[in-house]
Amino acid sequence: AYTLGPKITNWDGQRQVFLQQNPGFSSKNPRIMLVTGSRPTPCDSTIGDHYLLKSIKNKIDYCRLHSIEIVYNMALFDEVMSGAWVKLPLIRKLMLSHPEMEWIWWMDSDAFFTDMLFEVPFHRYEGYNMVVHGYPNLLFDEKSWIALNAGVFLLRNCQWSLDLLDAWARMGPRGWDRDEAGRILTESLKGRPAFEADDQSALIYLLISRRDEWMDRVFLENSYYRHGHWVGLVDRYEEYERKFRAGLRDERWPFITHFIGCKVCTGYGDYTLESCLRNMERAFNFADDQMLEKYGLRYRGLSSPNVKRIRIETSRPLEHTDKFNVSQTVYI
Ligand code: UDP
Ligand code: MN
Repeated sequence: AYTLGPKITNWDGQRQVFLQQNPGFSSKNPRIMLVTGSRPTPCDSTIGDHYLLKSIKNKIDYCRLHSIEIVYNMALFDEVMSGAWVKLPLIRKLMLSHPEMEWIWWMDSDAFFTDMLFEVPFHRYEGYNMVVHGYPNLLFDEKSWIALNAGVFLLRNCQWSLDLLDAWARMGPRGWDRDEAGRILTESLKGRPAFEADDQSALIYLLISRRDEWMDRVFLENSYYRHGHWVGLVDRYEEYERKFRAGLRDERWPFITHFIGCKVCTGYGDYTLESCLRNMERAFNFADDQMLEKYGLRYRGLSSPNVKRIRIETSRPLEHTDKFNVSQTVYI
């Protein structure tokens, strides 16, 4: 059967030795690495690449504010794990090459941070090894193929996660394995159209069929928008700005807006390319306004690429820095 690499059985022990030998890495705050990426070749249209650039700019800003390391990958780590499946061998490799990292945080290229101040409540996830946005009833009662979203998740750097990746990878190898698995997934999961196995359905299927083995370490987070479906959010950005402020979490301000069903690189998605691009522009500006405020700038509306000045320049710029300090964080 297919494996992601040589079987590792004592990763926790190996990692612990490394951390003891490198005491510089032990710190109170867990080290976090955000990983995202895109295909090795250009998008079919240049506008697709432009939005990939906006998407990575948005992630760099968030990570800089919150001291998170960031990795952008364009390589196909394993020929058979093509497309979205590349994240499995990639995350495994990053865990093994970066034993100093406590969490690996995967984020799709079509997901944007829309709350630049929000801090992930890592302290809540002690005792858990995977954190993913989802709903237990949709998962176990409905067996829905959208019970959770695999476009944004946290995986702890530990043996459990390596084992999970191995089990999860079985439906991934392209060709017969992936096609055959696709049939099983469509038969088993509610609402799933017929197509080859995707990583999200495979994860759902694994958690349902081997619930006792895996679920006690999986945290299904739904108390804030770990990943918010863009369709219900993008038209409300002005309303959020009017009524609330960033950093509030829950339904008052989406942490992440995810453009599920949009394929801006190929143009073939569930929504029109025009609508996807227009609303990505809005999500990007909504987030970038939060960055530009520190510099006294603001977009001339969420659909405009142009900015305007919102403060009068002063000869004593350091006097009011506390008022505009974007990096002040909000805990929940
Ligand atoms: N991805 C990648 N390399 C590829 C194809 C996809 O890194 O060759 C990443 C990319 O970040 C994308 C994610 O995998 O957002 C999920 O892939 P999917 O095909 O589901 O695309 P999406 O619908 O998220 O655009
Ligand atoms: Mn996506």
